[in-house]
Amino acid sequence: MKPLIDLHTHTIVSGHAYSTLKENIEMAKKRGILIYGSSEHAKMMPGTTHEIYFTNFKVVPDEIDGVRILNGIEANIYNINGDIDVDEKLYQKLDYIIASLHSTTFEDQGIEKNTEAVINAIKNPNVKIIGHPDDDRYPLDIDKVAKAAYENKTALEMNNGSLNPKSTRKNGAANIEKMLEACKKYGTMVIMGTDSHICYEVGDFEASLKLLEKVDFPEEQIINFDTDRISYILEK
Ligand SMILES: [Zn+2]
Ligand SMILES: [Zn+2]
Repeated sequence: MKPLIDLHTHTIVSGHAYSTLKENIEMAKKRGILIYGSSEHAKMMPGTTHEIYFTNFKVVPDEIDGVRILNGIEANIYNINGDIDVDEKLYQKLDYIIASLHSTTFEDQGIEKNTEAVINAIKNPNVKIIGHPDDDRYPLDIDKVAKAAYENKTALEMNNGSLNPKSTRKNGAANIEKMLEACKKYGTMVIMGTDSHICYEVGDFEASLKLLEKVDFPEEQIINFDTDRISYILEK
C-alpha cells in the first residue's frame, strides 16, 4: 500500500524547520502524496510564528499541481486538563488540529497524569490527531490512550520522525509497536505523519511502512492508504 496523505509537516515558519511551503508541496507531489497538510507549531513553541499566520489561510490554494492542500496546526498540550494553546477563534480557520506533548511545554508528571493529559486532549472535539504518543520522556499508558482515541474518534499518529535513530524522542520504535498493538486491539484509527522539518522528509514513510509490515497491522486502520479516509479527520 502507498501512503497518499501527509498531514504532519513544518516549514521555516515553525522556527526550527528549514524549507518553505512551496518546497514541501513540490516534494509531496514528487512522492505521490495527494493530500498535503501543513501543521506549524502553535504559539507556545519557542521561535514559532504568531497566531495571525493561521488566520490568513484564505490565500493558500485548495489544490496545487494536483495536490489537495489542508491547513492545520500542531498544538501543545500543556497541562493535565489536556488544554491546548490554540484560541477557539482559530478553530474555524483550521482544517485540523494535531495535539502533542513537547519537552518545551510539558513536564513529565508520571505515567498516570501524562495519560490523563492526553486522554483529555483526545476528548476535545477539535483535536483530530494525537501527535507522536511514543516518547518515554513522558511515558503513557498506551492501552488507555488507544481505547479513548477509538471512543472519541481521534486518530493516533505513527510518527516517522520518532523512528529516525537521530530522534530526541525516547524509545520511539518500541513504543510505536506497543501503540500499534493497542490500536489493533481496539480498532483505533492510525495516521502516519512524517513530521517533516525539511522538505526532503515530506512524504517519506519508509521506516513506518517497514514497521507496519513487521507487526502485520490491518491496512484498513491506516488513514493514509485511502484519500476517502480523510473524512475521519475532517468530520470528527
Ligand atoms: Zn518541530
Ligand atoms: Zn511534535
